[in-house]
Amino acid sequence: MSGLPYWLDPLVAPATPLPGDVSCDVVVVGAGLCGTSAALRLAQAGVDVRLLEARQVAMSATGRNAGFLLQGTCERYDRAVEIMGRDRARRIHSWTLDNHDRIAACIEEHGIECGYRRAGSLQLGGSALEDQELRVSAALLREDGFDAQLLEGDDVPQVFRGTGRQVAVHMVADGELDPARFVRGVAQAAQAAGATIHENTRVTSLDASAPGDVRVETEHGVVSASLVIVATNARASDLLPWFEGNVDPVRGQMLATAPLPRLFDRPIYANHGYDYWRQDEYGRVVLGGWRNLDADTEVGHAEVLNPRIQAKMRAFLEQFPWDQPLEITHQWSGIMGFSKDGLPLVGPAPSVAGAVVGTGFTGHGFGFAFLAGAALADLVLEGTHPFCDDLDPRRLS
Ligand SMILES: Cc1cc2nc3c(=O)[nH]c(=O)nc-3n(C[C@H](O)[C@H](O)[C@H](O)COP(=O)(O)OP(=O)(O)OC[C@H]3O[C@@H](n4cnc5c(N)ncnc54)[C@H](O)[C@@H]3O)c2cc1C
Repeated sequence: MSGLPYWLDPLVAPATPLPGDVSCDVVVVGAGLCGTSAALRLAQAGVDVRLLEARQVAMSATGRNAGFLLQGTCERYDRAVEIMGRDRARRIHSWTLDNHDRIAACIEEHGIECGYRRAGSLQLGGSALEDQELRVSAALLREDGFDAQLLEGDDVPQVFRGTGRQVAVHMVADGELDPARFVRGVAQAAQAAGATIHENTRVTSLDASAPGDVRVETEHGVVSASLVIVATNARASDLLPWFEGNVDPVRGQMLATAPLPRLFDRPIYANHGYDYWRQDEYGRVVLGGWRNLDADTEVGHAEVLNPRIQAKMRAFLEQFPWDQPLEITHQWSGIMGFSKDGLPLVGPAPSVAGAVVGTGFTGHGFGFAFLAGAALADLVLEGTHPFCDDLDPRRLS
């Protein structure tokens, strides 16, 4: 079995590391979804931008997730309304649809082959309580103008009725993609627009106290720039200590199977969002979650397997009526940056005038981080973006 995430197998050859001391207008740290998006936007605006990545493009959370393009936050809509109020919940939800539209437009504009498909997702109930919560959530979503179709009884796909599920919500505007192929495509588009990318270049420290005079130190040299965009997600506090305790590293487990006959025609989210799976364009099942089984262990930066959770995920898949043996080809884990209030932190870096930051995407980074990167670029170029006003990190001060 491969030790690599399915999306990163095979790994591509790395871009060259930083060749020594250089200067540029803006330096971006971290080449996941957020950082590559920022670099693309800046390069398209004619900015001299360098993107520094400790590993390779998309090699951390971005290349280790399930490739769901979901609307909304990690909380179902009824909970989001309860926690943050109706207006804010509606606004944040709308941002995630904007993010999806931008991803779709980018795929189209740059011809990125990444298995993108927009056929919605399914939120699946698993108990009388969860079923009722889904009904409430779907009603609130529809009242607020979002396309959420409640499915009950015979409208629930047969494959789930066979396992006792009776209620689901079809979130019509959701989608799916191969996250690594997409973000590598974004990185290539950024390079084509003039950005320079250095992989295997870990930033060891930065001095960004004064805008216009930023110094970013790496293992291979120093980058001098006017401003730095920090897009290191779960590792934000390594470079910006304010984020210690505001963004925590949390591990998620994943697996992928060999191609199977199609049972699932769109991404599925179950057990309050803890469990999720889909079949990709080749029929492989990509499945993740079950973190609540061992929540105290599934923290920190180590990308290690949790045998208990992996066994549970396999057993779950075995309950479905496959007419061929189940072969698991890939097992992996990845690290998410969980923010203290469950929402991304995107905007000026608290108490560091020469840095802006996008982090804390929690479990739904593909719902936010592409827009976040572009919004950070706009913040640098124009001094403002309404997305950064809504998700300014300083709200946690
Ligand atoms: C198992 C799992 C399943 C998930 N499933 C989904 C899903 O289906 N849908 C969804 O919306 N979201 C999902 N997520 C969350 C989503 O993947 C992330 O929120 C998103 O990828 C975050 O993007 P990012 O660019 O902020 O972070 P990352 O992809 O983590 O990128 C940060 C980059 O910074 C680099 N870096 C860190 N420190 C340094 C340094 N000092 N110097 C240079 N570079 C550095 C890292 O190597 C990394 O490449 C999942 C995450 C995991 C782990």
